[in-house]
Amino acid sequence: MIHEGRISSMEEIFTEGQKIREPEIVDVLLPDLQEEVININLVQRQTDAGEKSQFRAIVAVGNRDGYVGLGSGKAKQVRSAIEKAGVDARLNITPVRRGCGSWECECGKTHSLPFQVRGKCGGVDILLVPGPRGLGIVASEAAKVILGLAGVNDIWTHSFGSTRTVPSFAFAVFDALRQTYTLVTTTEWVR
Ligand SMILES: [Zn+2]
Repeated sequence: MIHEGRISSMEEIFTEGQKIREPEIVDVLLPDLQEEVININLVQRQTDAGEKSQFRAIVAVGNRDGYVGLGSGKAKQVRSAIEKAGVDARLNITPVRRGCGSWECECGKTHSLPFQVRGKCGGVDILLVPGPRGLGIVASEAAKVILGLAGVNDIWTHSFGSTRTVPSFAFAVFDALRQTYTLVTTTEWVR
């Protein structure tokens, strides 16, 4: 559909409720896309044939301007696990609604989120609270990377539960960012 010129922006895909089926689409529509490895761990599993070990990689992608994706991939080699996670992250890309939801700031610019949001994954619960301009990203390393790739620059994070489990933590942050988009569309629907 891109080649036919029927889709020319990422925004069109989401406003028309399309699904991204090929990771290359994301690279074409978001040429400034950046990729970061969030976590790699060794997963061991007992099978009939003995112990099987694989690497699990978590990769985040984003254009630092309102689009972010997070994905995971498993493989025997670290490099292939990262590649698979990169593909998964692109397929999971989501728009992030940004704004200035800080009562201390009210500048109206898109340096933070428009409201606070909650995200969940596994045993981790995270709350993202908009902060004033210049605050920075007050978060752990993994959350800093994901929020930075999304283009959310001034934010407080409060997390609960087993926050040391990096994969669940990262997916909880991603879930919260995805909420900014789905929550807004739901409110607009009500209007
Ligand atoms: Zn502001």
